[in-house]
Amino acid sequence: MQDRKGLKNRGYSREDVDDRRRAVEEFTGVKFSYIQDCGFDPASASKNIENMIGVTQIPLGFAGPVKISGEFAKGDFLVPMATTEGALIASVSRGMSAITKSGGAAVRIFNDAITRAPVFKTENLKHCIDTMAWIDSNTDALKAVVKETTSHGELESIDKYPSGRNLFLRFSFKTGDAMGMNMATIASEAACRFIEKNTGAVLVSVSGNMCSDKKPAAINLINGRGKTTVAEVLIPEEIVKSVLHTDASSVEEVNISKNLIGSSMSGTLGANAHAANMAAAVFIATGQDPAQVVGCSMALTFCENINGDLYVSVRIPVIEVGTVGGGTRLPFQSEALKMIGCIGDGKAKKLAEIIAVTILAGEISTLAAQATGQLGSAHAQLGR
Ligand code: NAP
Repeated sequence: MQDRKGLKNRGYSREDVDDRRRAVEEFTGVKFSYIQDCGFDPASASKNIENMIGVTQIPLGFAGPVKISGEFAKGDFLVPMATTEGALIASVSRGMSAITKSGGAAVRIFNDAITRAPVFKTENLKHCIDTMAWIDSNTDALKAVVKETTSHGELESIDKYPSGRNLFLRFSFKTGDAMGMNMATIASEAACRFIEKNTGAVLVSVSGNMCSDKKPAAINLINGRGKTTVAEVLIPEEIVKSVLHTDASSVEEVNISKNLIGSSMSGTLGANAHAANMAAAVFIATGQDPAQVVGCSMALTFCENINGDLYVSVRIPVIEVGTVGGGTRLPFQSEALKMIGCIGDGKAKKLAEIIAVTILAGEISTLAAQATGQLGSAHAQLGR
């Protein structure tokens, strides 16, 4: 695309956006009827997008209410979900109804850190080992360098992975209520320059892909990234029957065959029915980075028939979310965050707990639908 005036300027006034959109209309020959319908001041998106020409809208609904008994999320919630998949919200709401009628879901966060993994080139294995030793002896100095770049971020630990003369480091950061990838990247660059200066190792990339951001990765599945979260519920037999129209042993069997054996047969990272579905809808509604839904896609769903009652848990090793920064500051997204009391300081863990329970609800309903052979008919009825 030519860098003509109006196509690529970075202004965010309504006039700038209109000019740019008209230039795109002229270039493409497409006359827009909807894209210009921006219901907020484009200036509020100035940190979120370049070449802005308008907005795209995604239908927003809610699932719930759902009763949650977490460390941070306590009470009954209506969860905002933005989706174009008919039947998704109906299904999640059914799962939430089963959870709520059963007294609610328990949920806890077991780890909370965002990672950045730079890769350095050293001269040889000895230099690589010397560099690792220097890092071990100077961790406090590196923490101080990081502290100069952010008031909320903190360097927690540094894992080291040598490979020949390539040295991969995996920095773990506390990032407060921000998802933290900008914060961690800026902090990592500063720490890397300090390492270069003191060791002679040369930074090849601030991200050497062992982070691992926006890609499914075993290191995240095992060690976690963002908020590692577990949610569970025990659904009494009569509620399995009345709300889910099935029984515990049928759901347990579907989970074993599909989620455990099928995922293993296909080499899937994680074992779940559609955790990414719920994550995507809540992420989009609340201004999270949608590319990070891939982390939630590695959830492990477990179902057990306990004397006719149905126990279901989800372990989600990676929930990368924030309630400040990124897309959370956009007006529509911040309203959706307000719906669940998750805007601003002190709320990121609460948001992760709500997302985990929403995933739990979606798993329960979909497994039940597959146990009774209703998955296709529900989508045929609601989604076509
Ligand atoms: P950010 O909006 O870049 O930074 C968060 C800001 O909020 C910081 O300036 C921080 O200040 C401030 N802040 C205020 N109150 C805070 C609190 N209670 N907790 C934490 N911070 C607080 O957001 P980010 O989460 O670091 O990055 C998210 C963005 O990164 C998203 O837009 C995402 O799409 C993008 N992203 C970037 C990369 C990358 O490699 N750079 C990768 C993936 C995604 P202090 O820093 O002074 O504490």
